[in-house]
Amino acid sequence: MTVRALRDDTYLVDTDGATYVVDLDDRSCTCPDHALRGARCKHLRRVAIEVNERLVPPPGKRAGACAVCGARVFVPVGDDGSHLCRIHRPDRGEFVRDRETSKLLLVTRVTDERADERRTESGRPIDEFESNADYGGHEPVVEAVYVAGRRPVDGRLDVAGERRYGFPASRLRRLPDGEAPDYAVVGV
Ligand SMILES: [Zn+2]
Ligand SMILES: [Zn+2]
Repeated sequence: MTVRALRDDTYLVDTDGATYVVDLDDRSCTCPDHALRGARCKHLRRVAIEVNERLVPPPGKRAGACAVCGARVFVPVGDDGSHLCRIHRPDRGEFVRDRETSKLLLVTRVTDERADERRTESGRPIDEFESNADYGGHEPVVEAVYVAGRRPVDGRLDVAGERRYGFPASRLRRLPDGEAPDYAVVGV
């Protein structure tokens, strides 16, 4: 059996020379087994398994590609922005290091806006900066604040009001376990 997601949130199931359409939300299938007995037929079960194993997108999502490594990611249908896989997508509030300056930053937002569409306050696309030349203009912009050189007070660093800078995603390196500072950050 092969399963293919269609654009209208249904799935095409090819099996033994026949093709059926499964609708997960309706829990329906066009096969005779389902029509006769209203059974949860093998096609419905197969689609449910493939969605669970992330082999096909769940309803409402479509297959896309990570802008950094090309790995398959499922993104909301109609969302035409740029996306990252779980490995390349940092979390909000995560410490990262700038590959160009080695400075420590803290991620405040992961956008789906492309680096070649994002402009600084002076109107310049951020992918035109020389320091961003080695990173893809198609990558989503990650916003971050500089924490390098700043000292936490009472074990906390307050970044509220700090200026947010946008970077092409792959310019910011996620830190291995143990390399991130252990103080708390507030105001993200
Ligand atoms: Zn069926
Ligand atoms: Zn990736």
